[in-house]
Amino acid sequence: MHADEVRFVERQGARYYAIECPVCHAAYEHQVNPHLRDPGFLEEFRREIRMVAFDMLVNHLLAEHGDLIDEGAQ
Ligand SMILES: [Zn+2]
Repeated sequence: MHADEVRFVERQGARYYAIECPVCHAAYEHQVNPHLRDPGFLEEFRREIRMVAFDMLVNHLLAEHGDLIDEGAQ
């Protein structure tokens, strides 16, 4: 798993971050806080957004692929 798997997209003036489950390839996409629109936002908060995106992915992995995680930890 690598941090670069988090993608940032911009559509119709709104920014989104997206992450894809490496197991089942389900895509999760969330809008970046629309109140933070200054051009430096994405660079400045890229790391924090990655952490939020990975939290989202970890929750998905635990909920949907808990068996795989237990197996991998042994
Ligand atoms: Zn999945």
